[in-house]
Amino acid sequence: MNGGTPGQLVIISGPSGAGKSTVVGRLLAECELPLELSVSATTRRPRPGEVQGKDYHFLSRDQFLARRDNGEFLEWKEVFGRGDYYGTLLGTVTAGVNAGKWVVLEIDVEGAMTVIETYPDAITIFLHPGSTGELERRLRERGTDSADAIARRLEVARREMTFRDRYKHHVQNDAVDKAVAEVCGILNARAAAATTKSPSDTTR
Ligand code: 5GP
Repeated sequence: MNGGTPGQLVIISGPSGAGKSTVVGRLLAECELPLELSVSATTRRPRPGEVQGKDYHFLSRDQFLARRDNGEFLEWKEVFGRGDYYGTLLGTVTAGVNAGKWVVLEIDVEGAMTVIETYPDAITIFLHPGSTGELERRLRERGTDSADAIARRLEVARREMTFRDRYKHHVQNDAVDKAVAEVCGILNARAAAATTKSPSDTTR
């Protein structure tokens, strides 16, 4: 807690290529709430421009599995079936929430379902690109993945879309400015509602 202001968990999921990272980056910079990104751990290799500890905690497979076995993850998943692990660090989330932060988790749908079990009051937002055709165009344009990897991501995306209805809020990212404003609006509405309730009603 921070002067009595309750912390909160914000889960943002959506198919890879839906523009989650861009929207989340802008959200953190522009939305006037005490937002804090939960930096996940992963065994995938950094993409050009990604920074250790800022975009992800990039770990070797051995390091990841040791931390998993040590119970350090709130949730973890092998994403894309190619041996890359991703996980949310429990310490990051609890430290943030206890400090009154709105901790933002940008994680896949299965990880999100696990987190919701522990934090049923989490604000869940599904960000989608509109159609899988649009998604394919974006993945190709991004140019960071091979044709094989794109095919795998599209397959995963189709499956991820089926989880849409498990999220309280759906935001279409056809224009980044609009999507950021919409997500920020959802969070501000929740903040306004929380001020009318006691913290114990709104925080886990
Ligand atoms: P990317 O490799 O493009 O950064 O992320 C691939 C996918 O992994 C995205 O859908 C992203 O949301 C998801 N992801 C990132 N961090 C985590 C995490 O800590 N846990 C889970 N379950 N998924 C994650």
